[in-house]
Amino acid sequence: MTARLLDGKSLSKQIQAEIRDQIAQFTGQGGGVPCLAAVLVGADPASEVYVRNKQRACERVGVKSQLHRLEVTASTEQLLELVERLNQAVDVHGILVQLPLPETIDVRRVLDGVYPLKDVDAFHPENCGLLFQGRPRYLPCTPRGIQELLLRNHVALAGRHVVIVGRSEIVGKSLALMLLDRGPGRDATVTVCHSKTRNLAQLTRGADVLVAAVGRAKFITADMVRPGAVVVDVGINRIESGIVGDVDFQAVREVAGLITPVPGGVGPLTVTMLLANTLAAARLQCG
Ligand code: NDP
Repeated sequence: MTARLLDGKSLSKQIQAEIRDQIAQFTGQGGGVPCLAAVLVGADPASEVYVRNKQRACERVGVKSQLHRLEVTASTEQLLELVERLNQAVDVHGILVQLPLPETIDVRRVLDGVYPLKDVDAFHPENCGLLFQGRPRYLPCTPRGIQELLLRNHVALAGRHVVIVGRSEIVGKSLALMLLDRGPGRDATVTVCHSKTRNLAQLTRGADVLVAAVGRAKFITADMVRPGAVVVDVGINRIESGIVGDVDFQAVREVAGLITPVPGGVGPLTVTMLLANTLAAARLQCG
């Protein structure tokens, strides 16, 4: 059996068209134009690409975008000053601090410094707390993209076993909370695995839905996947031959029922959910 593809690229286009319509309506009713301010420290090539992609996506749906650059030598204080200026700017609704930041910067202080209503990445402790309590203000973009991908492809999660490999705050841990919650596209039984997990393959083979967010090229092999399972590959790994995910795609697609490609799976949806969160932020701040 060859798995059917979960096509994040075309779903993204569809959702972006929906967001464009919602923004036109919001603006038409006097709500103003949603605006996302990106902050880029240094000139990391991958971050440059991510920020450019986000700006292009903003243009497509009618979100205004700003780019604020700081030298790689910038201090935590300088970055906090910039964030505070953006917090105060009434025409800015969302603030995105592109990660990773240089090692000299206190990332936690910077992310904590973003005004929670403008925190469209949902990294601020207030937004994480609301998510924990099952009443999120904004959902973190990558987990929200995964949830949307499963929901719109009619992958039922209620009572099913989701195994997530990776426990980072931005992906694994947040996704676990979201899928564990009550409601449509949720109600899953969730297992979260990490580098200290024993008998990993035994656990992943028990998954109805397997999510790989490890950051290691082709880490999930065919023998780790139950026949017919849904496989979501979050990984973005640069190897000599190009970009690959955390799943050994060619081998696993012969076992799985549904699988996301890399690129063209979760990545485009992450950007799209940032747009959705920016519109939500503008709605909250423009009454
Ligand atoms: P992190 O490095 O923050 O987390 C990786 C997780 O994988 C950790 O929890 C780690 O465990 C776990 N891990 C590492 N090695 C093993 C192992 N041998 N067995 C089991 N678990 C292991 O990465 P992120 O969550 O930020 O990102 C994961 C991947 O997703 C990366 O490739 C990243 O580029 C990509 N990504 C893609 C996005 C998209 O839009 N498509 C968005 C965000 C990330 P431990 O905690 O014990 O160290």
